[in-house]
Amino acid sequence: MKYIGAHVSVEGGVGNAPIRAHEIGALAFALFTRSPSRWSSPAIKPAEADRFKENCLKYGFGPEHILPHDSYLINLGAPDPTKLEMSRKAFLDEIDRCSQLGLTMLNFHPGSHLNAIPVDDCLSLIADSINYALDKTQGVKAVIESTAGQGSNLGFSFEQIAAIIDKVEDKNRVGVCIDTCHTFAAGYDLASAAGYDETWKQFDNTIGFKYLSGMHINDSKKGLGSRVDRHELIGKGALGSEFFERLMGDSRMDNIPLILETPNPDEWPQEIAWLKGIRNEE
Ligand SMILES: [Zn+2]
Ligand SMILES: [Zn+2]
Repeated sequence: MKYIGAHVSVEGGVGNAPIRAHEIGALAFALFTRSPSRWSSPAIKPAEADRFKENCLKYGFGPEHILPHDSYLINLGAPDPTKLEMSRKAFLDEIDRCSQLGLTMLNFHPGSHLNAIPVDDCLSLIADSINYALDKTQGVKAVIESTAGQGSNLGFSFEQIAAIIDKVEDKNRVGVCIDTCHTFAAGYDLASAAGYDETWKQFDNTIGFKYLSGMHINDSKKGLGSRVDRHELIGKGALGSEFFERLMGDSRMDNIPLILETPNPDEWPQEIAWLKGIRNEE
């Protein structure tokens, strides 16, 4: 079964996220548990955490279908030691917030070398940061998101993601989130039938399906290999409707959160309904 959802707003408190997800017909959702654009965020009040858990229970969202996204400021591969320290502290706080909410995964962009250090050094720093955070926490999986490779962002190739996982000590607590827009923009031809098969074959050979913990299902405004991260409405971009039909018919994506980050939240109910209507081939 496919668990389709969207990255919903937490306006008015995190406890509203499951309500919003339910309202749009979602069976999964993503959220920010702290401000995505500020270094400091007030703690989640215990009553609000309880309201979140109650609403998740009420609307049938289990932790395996909720994929929180971390703050955009965090760079776990930051070349500057001060920024790295700030990032690691903030990442730890993100994991603690997940625990407080009864969640078991945290999705994040691996990091950027900012043209200041070699790629391999940056990948090692990212793995060290993950180890640092996992060592101090329990019960939450660090889920690495594939990127478009815009600027100096790493994690755009399966090899880079595999290199990070390779250095993570607790392999049971690391996973991968493939963002379809990012991975296509990074140069993996998910749009054609042959490219789709080849991409997932490469994914399985390089990383392995056992690490696939969730997906961001977005169409792409920009073309294959553009390295530009611009999400488009489902079926309206360079990936196209056929890609999403193929994806919905692929049982390898069953039972994991499939999250829309498409540009118009007003379209989510229709996008979710359309995707849900595509039948599994088996
Ligand atoms: Zn993301
Ligand atoms: Zn994404």
